[in-house]
Amino acid sequence: MPGLDELLDAARNDYERARPVSGRRAKTATDVLPGGNTRSVLDFRPYPFRVAGVDGPYLIDVDGHRYLDLLGNYSAGLLGHRPGVVADAVRAVLDQGWSLGAITSAEAELARLVADRFDSIDQIRFTNSGTEANLMAIATAKHVTGRDVVVAFRAGYHGGVLYHGDGGTGLLVPHRWEVAEYNDTVGVQSLFASLGEQIACVIVEPMLAASGCIPGSKTFLEEIRRSSADNGSIMIFDEVMTSRLSPGGAQSLLGIRPDMTTLGKYLAGGLPFGAFGGGRDLMAVFDPHSGGTLTHGGTFNNDELSLAAGIAALGSILDDSVLRAVNERGDRLRSGLNEVFADAGVPMCATGLGSLLAIHGTAGPVERISDLDDSDDRIKELLFFDLLAAGYYMARRGFIALSLDISDEHVDEFLEEVASWADSLTGRMG
Ligand code: PMP
Repeated sequence: MPGLDELLDAARNDYERARPVSGRRAKTATDVLPGGNTRSVLDFRPYPFRVAGVDGPYLIDVDGHRYLDLLGNYSAGLLGHRPGVVADAVRAVLDQGWSLGAITSAEAELARLVADRFDSIDQIRFTNSGTEANLMAIATAKHVTGRDVVVAFRAGYHGGVLYHGDGGTGLLVPHRWEVAEYNDTVGVQSLFASLGEQIACVIVEPMLAASGCIPGSKTFLEEIRRSSADNGSIMIFDEVMTSRLSPGGAQSLLGIRPDMTTLGKYLAGGLPFGAFGGGRDLMAVFDPHSGGTLTHGGTFNNDELSLAAGIAALGSILDDSVLRAVNERGDRLRSGLNEVFADAGVPMCATGLGSLLAIHGTAGPVERISDLDDSDDRIKELLFFDLLAAGYYMARRGFIALSLDISDEHVDEFLEEVASWADSLTGRMG
């Protein structure tokens, strides 16, 4: 009987055999794109399928396969593939004209919608991505405090050039970083005890999202809040992922008010978006009319398409009840998956908060990044390929971000699929 390695080889071969057109397109693409794509996170072996179109919550690939999209574009696709209200708003801009190099009223309208939601944001500046928002927030904190130490956490992901995990260091922006352990409250205390007066800011995700959906403990996050305040350091909440957990983001669920908040992903209804904001006093550094000395450029900061899409998303779709429903659905999916794995005796678990989940190759619990040291990636990858074969798409690393198009019925079907996979696994492995 085969073991995990053999099952995985067979699953990869089956995948490849069933997707010859994707295979050819992937090969051609490598000529002009290193690795065949322009977004490393989407890559996997032997090659990612190529999408030909969408049908509601489904992706259709060029070989004719159909997948229920549980990845939701890593959270940017919260509203689905083609939300009507957003499409209408974008169409209106297309009819009217764009790339104006001047200011429309959309900028302040979207800023108002965002500021009204997030407690820590009085004023905001838009960017084109979450990465850029974090770059700006950190630089602002250094300027405002006149200090240079930037505290981040191991495996924290704040963008391609702000990643403190495997493969990230080569591209890291050269700040004077101090990298601490996530969810290590005592570690935060000692860092502030030794470097307090040099710390410009602490940048932290309320939940380590890209690195495995590990929620930050309240004690840990409150300690960052307290130590930052006591030492005159700026606390930056990177809510690029977690802001979708409630209308006021994770900060509202936690009752923690950071000095700055960064946003991105779904807020422009799936179009490019990023933003950083904070209290009026702090953001005044960007206001030349009241003595601010910093300029914040960006040709596309006020891109008309993203602004209109953002106004539609926040103004017409993402209300309290919609966000509550998608996050409750995610909670149900996560506990369902954990039951399935436990019942079948498969060493896997699901972590996360609300509609953001990660599946791991260990039975858990997963509370620190070191709890993933013994996670078996092979079993996760096998699940990934077997689910593709069954018509479900999630991230190769096990990440799921439910979109509004995923219904309770979809969740039930998916749980049944994973249950029968888990039940058959022991038998298949011999
Ligand atoms: N912060 C977090 C928490 C993220 O998850 C991401 C993207 N996955 C980013 C920042 C970077 O955002 P973007 O990809 O828009 O640059």
